Formats: sequence, structure tokens, C-alpha cells
Amino acid sequence: MATKTQETFRCMMCGHEYAEAVEKDEDKERSCPKCRSNSIRHLKKKRPPKE
Ligand SMILES: [Zn+2]
Repeated sequence: MATKTQETFRCMMCGHEYAEAVEKDEDKERSCPKCRSNSIRHLKKKRPPKE
């Protein structure tokens, strides 16, 4: 059974933010639903800093 989580992404080109369900460890190429740029940044949830 696939583990999906809702992740947030942001387009660096137009600034559009959107959420998408992704599978664990998935690393597929994404593109902005608005401008189709592939400059998508994954907005990770805040975690305690690793040192
Ligand atoms: Zn965009």
C-alpha cells in the first residue's frame, strides 16, 4: 500500500504555490500547473535543525 503525503510546492518562476500528494521517496520531475515551468521548489515542513 502506497504511502502518500500532501506536500507543498512552489514555482520559482511565477510564485504559484500548490499542494500535491506524493509517494514516499518519490522524486519525479514536476512542472508548474500555471506556467509549466519546471523550476519547482519543494517546500518542506519545518523540522528541528540537524547539526
Ligand atoms: Zn509557475
